[in-house]
Order: sequence, then structure tokens, then C-alpha cells
Amino acid sequence: MKAAWTLCHDCGTASRLPELPPGGVACCPCCQAELDRRQGASLDTGLALALTGLILFVIANWQPLLTLKLGGRMLGNTLWDGVLAMARYGMWDLALLVLATSMLFPLLMLLGLTGVLLPLHFGRRPWQGARIFKMVLAVTPWAMVGVYTLGLFVAYVKLTSMASVAPGVALYAFCGLLVVSAATRATLNPRAVWERLQPASPPTPGPEFDPNAWMACHVCGLLASLENHARQSCRRCHATLHHRKPHSITRTWALLWTAALLYIPANLYPVMTVIKMGRGQPDTILSGVKHLIESGMWPLAILVFTASIVVPVMKIVVLMFLLLAVRRRSTARRRDRTVLYRVLETFGHWSMVDIFLVSILSALVDFGSLATIRPETGGTFFAAVVLLTLFAARAFDPRLIWDPSKRDAP
Ligand SMILES: [Zn+2]
Ligand SMILES: [Zn+2]
Repeated sequence: MKAAWTLCHDCGTASRLPELPPGGVACCPCCQAELDRRQGASLDTGLALALTGLILFVIANWQPLLTLKLGGRMLGNTLWDGVLAMARYGMWDLALLVLATSMLFPLLMLLGLTGVLLPLHFGRRPWQGARIFKMVLAVTPWAMVGVYTLGLFVAYVKLTSMASVAPGVALYAFCGLLVVSAATRATLNPRAVWERLQPASPPTPGPEFDPNAWMACHVCGLLASLENHARQSCRRCHATLHHRKPHSITRTWALLWTAALLYIPANLYPVMTVIKMGRGQPDTILSGVKHLIESGMWPLAILVFTASIVVPVMKIVVLMFLLLAVRRRSTARRRDRTVLYRVLETFGHWSMVDIFLVSILSALVDFGSLATIRPETGGTFFAAVVLLTLFAARAFDPRLIWDPSKRDAP
């Protein structure tokens, strides 16, 4: 088999993919991004994991996650209760956000994977396979099972100081779902699925391959000629093709400035009010951290502080730095800047933990005047900041870091 050409998704460098041994990984010679890997595990492992994930998802949605006992009354909360609690207090935007990231997107991801991998297992062509797999890849970063689990863990520790709290069956199912999601990401190579759906015919292999005459699909990596590329879509997944993300710099700046502005009300307004024995006390993100420190929950305070204060600020500052370096056409430490961008993309969504925490607490602590926790406006601003920084990171094209002069050493 002829080695196929590929363009690196992080720096745009052209390289030939070697025939890999089982377990082998092909990396970009320029920025060290992973270009291809060959798992020992087959696509059937991915199918088994997706099916297991679906079973765990049903249990996680059906049973209570945590149960709280206070004043002789017992309350349990399911995932759905977290959504309803936000809606009950009139915060529909947050209710929809929690619904999408904790239930809808994980479900779409698992159903989509099963829909693609099950027919492939039986040697059949999946119905709308490319479109469904494209949807799976699009929702995967927004399926925040891991962050929700962290939110549950924080809620559990926080509530132990207030009442008697016990983990429910769904909590274990949710932890299982987290393991399954992580295992699916680790074992499933999207490139292998695309090859099964529609093998790519390598274009013009040979030393004369000119990376500037080709572009790679942002979704499936298939190469397409740059000639007549206006409004051209990918032959395999039908995504719109661009040489670089369109208006990347302008869009990223706009999203970042909006996020930076909204970060002010996100910290000034309370995110939740804790009512104990009829007395209410609104909490901003910072005062929430302060209370955790006062109660001696240092590790939890550090965790919430990092996820809610450090991560969003770091995202805004680092992305602004990357944009300014691109504008200066800097060629210094390009590999390090690419790594910085990758770290940002990997950990950015952990700031959502505070939103999930408020949703879990307001669903669970609903004991009238005895004890109630309700969400407040600050949560909406904070969620907007998190979403805007996530969109900004996705709008930035890391290949711009490498564009000024490709021939220089990294
Ligand atoms: Zn690269
Ligand atoms: Zn494509």
C-alpha cells in the first residue's frame, strides 16, 4: 500500500503517513501533533464501549445521583432534576446548557457511535454514516461527563458539612460512564472510522507534493485541491472546506473581548444563594471559595478556585498572547505556543464545574425554609464567559502560528 500524504491539523505541515505497526503512532515532524495511530484494539472495542456507555447512561438518568437527609426528610436528585431546578428558578438558559452538556450531547455521542460502528461490525454500510460520525465528532467536546462527575464530587463533599448525604446508584453509573467515555476516546481512532466509511485515495503521492496547493478537511482530514475551492465541500463528510479557519483572528478577538467584559459581572453578581433556617446568604464565586476555606475544605477550595477563576483568566490571557504573537509574525517558540494551545483546548471546559455544582445543589437542597440553595444571575454571566472562551479557542487556527515562514526551524 502506498503511504498517504497528510496535512497536520495543528501546523499545516505536509508529511507522509508511514505504515504503522499495531500500537504505533505517527507524529508531525514539525509540531509533534498526533497524526495517526494504529490501536491493537479494533473498531469492535469502540462498539462494545459505546453499548456499555448506553446502558450506564440509562441507569445514570433513572436513579438518584445523591440523596440528602435533613430534618427527617430525604431528597434524591437525578440528572434531569438538575435541569428542572434551573428552569424552576426561571434560569432557562442555564437549564438548556446543563441539559445539553450533561444529557443530550453524551447521549448523541453514544447513539451516533453505535449507529456507525454497529453496521460496520456486520460488514454493512451505515445509513448516513459520514454525517452521523461528523455529528459525533462535533458533540464530543461538549459532552462534559467528566466535568459533571467532578461537580457531583464537589457537591458531595460540600454537603457533608450540612447534612447526611449518600451516593446513589446513578453516581456509580456516572463514574462508569466517565471511564467508558475516556476509554472510547483513547481506543477509537477517528481516522480509522473515516477510512472504513470511505477510504481516501491519496492525491498525487510523490516528493513533488506541494502543501500550499492542497487543504485538509477540518473534520475528517481528507485532502482536497485548493483550485476552485470557493464554497467547496468535503467529498467524504460534506463539511465546508477552508485553507485556514475563516476570519479566525477577528472572530477570536471579538469572542475574547466579550468574555473579558462579562467576566466582571460574573464575579460581582452572586452565583447562588444558600438559605439556612430562613436566612439567606448570596455567594459570588470568590465568596464561595472563601467559605470553603473557612470550613477547612482546602483541597476543594483550591479545586473550585482553579476551575472557576484561574482557568477562565488563563484562557483569555493565553489566547490574547497567541493572537498578538501571530500579529507580530513571531517565529519564536512556535512548538511551545502550539502546545500551549493544545493544553487550552484540553482543559478549557473544566470551568463548567461551577455551573454544574449550582445545578446539582439547587436540585438537591430544596427543604423550604430549613435549607434551600437557589441559582442566581451571576451563574448566567459565568456560563457565558465559559462558553465564549470555549468558542474563542475553537475559532483560533493554530496553523497561523506556523504560517509566517514555514522553512525556518521551529
Ligand atoms: Zn504539525
Ligand atoms: Zn471531510
